[in-house]
Amino acid sequence: MFDSLSDRLGGVFDKLRGRGALKEQDVRDAMREVRIALLEADVALPVVRRFIDQVTEQAVGQSVLKSVTPGQQVVKIVNDALIEMLGGDQTAELDLEAVPPVVIMMVGLQGSGKTTSTAKIARLLKEKQGKKVMMASLDVNRPAAQEQLRVLGEQVGVATLPIIAGQQPTEIATRAMQSARLQAVDVLLLDTAGRLHVDTQLMDEMKAVAAISTPRETLLVVDSLTGQDAVNVAQSFAGEVDLTGVVLTRMDGDARGGAALSMRAVTGKPIKFAGTGEKMEALEVFHPSRVANRILG
Ligand code: GDP
Repeated sequence: MFDSLSDRLGGVFDKLRGRGALKEQDVRDAMREVRIALLEADVALPVVRRFIDQVTEQAVGQSVLKSVTPGQQVVKIVNDALIEMLGGDQTAELDLEAVPPVVIMMVGLQGSGKTTSTAKIARLLKEKQGKKVMMASLDVNRPAAQEQLRVLGEQVGVATLPIIAGQQPTEIATRAMQSARLQAVDVLLLDTAGRLHVDTQLMDEMKAVAAISTPRETLLVVDSLTGQDAVNVAQSFAGEVDLTGVVLTRMDGDARGGAALSMRAVTGKPIKFAGTGEKMEALEVFHPSRVANRILG
């Protein structure tokens, strides 16, 4: 995760720290290298521009250059800007403050890791927060999707809504709500159908399910390996439904990190979780400051 960016920035910062006194040109040279590092990490160009402008403006200030440790100060300015780019002091916590069953609607394209992430989050809520959780698959497009969620449910010890063949997503959502109420479930996760592309049928279906279940959280699952495409997909979804957050999957295989670094700035939506592997435990709550620390070593 972020390996190459981390290496590149580490090199730039070592140089800055090692110099003692700094001139404005030194800072500008360093920022040119930071800019290249961010572009190589596949961060969206407007985000890179804004970042570099902001950091440069602060870093060439006289109070920084005349300070005893200018290199350190510049590094701190970059660190703070990086945290802000990743979401600042966002509350990564899920908002579950509502009358139960509190619904989390999972949306996303096929293959993004939606079903896996649904089960991972269910496990987390059960194990870490002691919630009574239920999951229901509304994916009637992909054969075996419902069965896949049932198997994962068994694996993590979370109940899934019994499958009734031939039901439509809205019917399943209605049944899931009834069942969750009857069983006094705290949190109901709805795994909606994925499609290969963002299309009107998918969006209409999502809106219909949302109307039935009034989700407290609507989480978009996107694959970090698709880089800026993941950000574009998020923008399309954000224009249609009220997304409350993003789950970025396959971060374990993402050496560049462009999607993670651009997501908040481009879409305004916070990343709430990072998927870091195929196993059910491989889910991390996304803390911008911790991620920034990881990048800056
Ligand atoms: P869906 O079509 O969006 O529901 O996608 P699935 O949940 O079926 O996931 C597709 C594949 O991606 C499965 O083989 C998952 O094990 C894998 N996968 C999901 N999340 C992650 C992740 O964070 N890291 C890795 N390495 N694989 C993942």
